[in-house]
Amino acid sequence: MVLDKLGDSLRDTLRNIASAIFVDEKLINELVKSIQKALLQADVNVNLVFELTKKIKDRALKEEPPSGLTKKEYLIKIVYEELVRFLGEKEKKIDLSGKPSTLMLVGLFGSGKTTQAAKLAKFYKKRGMRIALLCTDTWRPAAYEQLKQLGEQIDVPVFGNPKEKNPLKIYRDNEKELKKFDLVIIDTAGRDALSKELIEELDLLHKTIKPNEVFLVISADLGQAAERQAQKFHETCHITGVIITKLEGTAKGGGALSACAVTGANVTFIGVGEKIDDLEKFNPQGFVGRLLGMGDLEALLEKAQEAITTEEAEDLSKRLLKGEFNLIDLYEQMEAMRKMGPLNKIMEMVPGFSQIQLPKEMLQVQEGKLKKWRHVMNSMTKAELEDPEIISVQRIERIARGAGSSVNDVRELLKQYRQGKKLIKMFKGGSEKNMQKLMQQFGRGKLPPGFKM
Ligand code: GDP
Ligand code: MG
Repeated sequence: MVLDKLGDSLRDTLRNIASAIFVDEKLINELVKSIQKALLQADVNVNLVFELTKKIKDRALKEEPPSGLTKKEYLIKIVYEELVRFLGEKEKKIDLSGKPSTLMLVGLFGSGKTTQAAKLAKFYKKRGMRIALLCTDTWRPAAYEQLKQLGEQIDVPVFGNPKEKNPLKIYRDNEKELKKFDLVIIDTAGRDALSKELIEELDLLHKTIKPNEVFLVISADLGQAAERQAQKFHETCHITGVIITKLEGTAKGGGALSACAVTGANVTFIGVGEKIDDLEKFNPQGFVGRLLGMGDLEALLEKAQEAITTEEAEDLSKRLLKGEFNLIDLYEQMEAMRKMGPLNKIMEMVPGFSQIQLPKEMLQVQEGKLKKWRHVMNSMTKAELEDPEIISVQRIERIARGAGSSVNDVRELLKQYRQGKKLIKMFKGGSEKNMQKLMQQFGRGKLPPGFKM
């Protein structure tokens, strides 16, 4: 895996939090220190490291965990969120509009432009696009042959002219032919350094081609030195994103990734090997998640998102007891149940309710059905949502038409609502305390041991 060492240290750090008894300032300081150490070893710039860990520390000391999360869980969430922000926060959306859409790769010698051009061609070909590769590298001998060979491996046509010395002319000579494709990936010439000559060449190409995207290809083994290079290209070459290559072969990748993020140049893809399939779309959330050991984290984040507050649970249970139960409540409950698992499992945890027999549909809520119901409900008036009893046959027809669904879908939702209401009546037999308990279980995701979400 990429950045093994950094991942190992970060996971160790999180494990220490998990096994700690208290979250106190001492633990937070230890956490911050070990994150600092891990990032510095991955060649992340010292100032960036301190900025990041200060943010983590400040938040950890100041913020209270939302209900549903323990202090420890919340601490892990903070680390995750700040690391994601550190690496650029969101996945960059790549502009593939236009016919053809054009994507130009720029960078210094040996950074991996030609190889990534072929990798990208395969990546987008797999996604159903018609791809052409164009070689405008008139600088390096045999540049065209290298791309041609790669193109043959993936069955993508390669355009260019090994005898022509003017990259603009190569583009113009092929422009008409290239219009037949969805995406044209352009491999350009590099230099030893970002010289004036290279800037001018790339600028001319940019003016003529007007590419949708210009990706700087940069090698991860530069570590934090990637910042200067990214900055310079960013200022002079219209780049819209960065591809960091050779990330699998260096411990300095953390430096390269964070250095690019700090210049405002989004990392779009990462190259993780010499083979054509060794390319990954870069997504800060997924990347950090994997570094930290995704499995646990996903569950944690989901839990945090779903947690309804204790107050909300109390409010809902009070309204239910008064019989104020409408379609919106039903929908919310269905959604909660879908996430929590079968209702009967939850009921078992609440004394007195385990004997109630529930209708089968109530126990298995499917995602598709919820979506349909969401449309149906969007097509209802506020009055109808709050008091479904007023929904007549004519109204059902109107709602179905508006929702683009069938009359049966609307009826099914109403049936579900009536069953829910009946259930509430049964609950009414139970005490208010039990009811509150039940609702809180819904919200908190507290499940019996061995029960998987
Ligand atoms: P260019 O001069 O920018 O066109 O670079 P090339 O595409 O010719 O690549 C230079 C060298 O880097 C080649 O030996 C490639 O196989 C290698 N390379 C490219 N991408 C990766 C990568 O993600 N990982 C590794 N380990 N090597 C890579
Ligand atoms: Mg090349």
